[in-house]
Amino acid sequence: MDREEFRRQGKAMVDFIADYFASFRQRQVVPDVRPGYLRPLIPAEPPQAGEPFENVMADLERVVLSGVTNWHHPQFHAYYPTANTFPSILADMLSDAIGCIGFSWIASPACTELETVMMDWLAKALGLPDHFLFPAGGGSGGSGGGGVIQGSASEATLVIFLSARNLAIQRLQAQQPEAQQQPSLALSRLVAYASDQSHSSVERAAMLAFVQLRKLPTDGKRSLRGDTLARAVAEDRARGLEPILLITTLGTTNSCAFDNLAELGEVCQSEGLWCHVDAAYAGASLICPEYRHIANGIELADSFNFNPGKWLQITFDCSALWLKDSSKVVDTFNVDPLYLQHEFSGQVPDYRIWFVLRSYGIEGLQSYIRKHIRLAKQFEELVTADDRFEIVEEVVFGLGANAPSRELYRCIREDGRIHLIASEFEASDTFFIRFAVCSEFCEAADIRYAYDVISELANEVLSKK
Ligand code: PLP
Repeated sequence: MDREEFRRQGKAMVDFIADYFASFRQRQVVPDVRPGYLRPLIPAEPPQAGEPFENVMADLERVVLSGVTNWHHPQFHAYYPTANTFPSILADMLSDAIGCIGFSWIASPACTELETVMMDWLAKALGLPDHFLFPAGGGSGGSGGGGVIQGSASEATLVIFLSARNLAIQRLQAQQPEAQQQPSLALSRLVAYASDQSHSSVERAAMLAFVQLRKLPTDGKRSLRGDTLARAVAEDRARGLEPILLITTLGTTNSCAFDNLAELGEVCQSEGLWCHVDAAYAGASLICPEYRHIANGIELADSFNFNPGKWLQITFDCSALWLKDSSKVVDTFNVDPLYLQHEFSGQVPDYRIWFVLRSYGIEGLQSYIRKHIRLAKQFEELVTADDRFEIVEEVVFGLGANAPSRELYRCIREDGRIHLIASEFEASDTFFIRFAVCSEFCEAADIRYAYDVISELANEVLSKK
């Protein structure tokens, strides 16, 4: 494809994308296909000679879109919102076109510099403490704060686990000469904590880092409290273990519950634990001052992570991680081979954050978050007024949970007009249907429609009893 052909096909692709976005209400949320649907639609062998690009474009609807779950459909209420906006898509285009790998400053100065400034912009937009900002004048290095973009919240948690682990091993090795010969001696003593509501990625990170994880019980609001952590730390110290890290959650995956960060942060400080905040979904709400209370105690945290790629209109993947002392992570992963060194040695572009923040402004993003919360409240009101249903947890943001009926859930999935998922609180064996406001295009009429579908299917289920 030459440059002129690229211009032509690029315009055709933008038209195709714009038409796709206009077509949601004519499409099913979940495609009506069975496993293995795609293989018969395309040849078994790759083509010997190149084909005209029109042939590729002609197959997009038949092969791809016919099997896509439409995450941006106004009736998609499963999992979480996944941000997708036109400025962000355009930024991805530019990023792909520049096609550089910004692993060091000299590998592409604009990448490093834009990322650092965007992380500061985001931190300021969210009202994060100043110690998460890069030192005045920008740039990393030293023991100052700063942010870095990760692919996912799971990745951020793993980075924190590995860093906290290495720091603790170094400390124990300095204290115990025998651990210097045998790092596994120190490793076997390390223990980290998280609530029983924390995301599965916390458990996975602990496994990958070979650090024991103690999942602590939560209170009646599924919130981890300081006294629970303090007790666990004391018990573990008495058993000869070395507590190193707490992963707190602001906005749990099951029901959007919040750990008590203010209490936990104090315990972490007095006990010398690294306090990491996983706010993968709910962190975006901090852009609205009226929701900042969910992060009371944030000044006590050592690191904070949220996914702009979930609820802040920046396309996947984009997970923002801030550290109070960036050297704790940089030193852990620094290998500094000669071929990466340069005269300014001292970090993936983020054109998407830049494009989105400039196109929407903080006010535009605030009104987006507030709209989703209003729609979740509308759904809560409809469900609360219907005595066949029950809200199992307080609806704080765009996530609510209702009626324990496996049969109703099966009917909703089979019916296909709306898409949502179920979840459970394992400890109390509570099964519930989980409703999330996800799409940018979801309006009050869509919420009413979703409730009407659920209500109609509930009537059918009840009439069969
Ligand atoms: N943490 C919480 C609280 C989440 O809800 C999720 C995903 O839903 C994750 C972590 C994992 O996020 P990611 O898919 O970015 O790894």
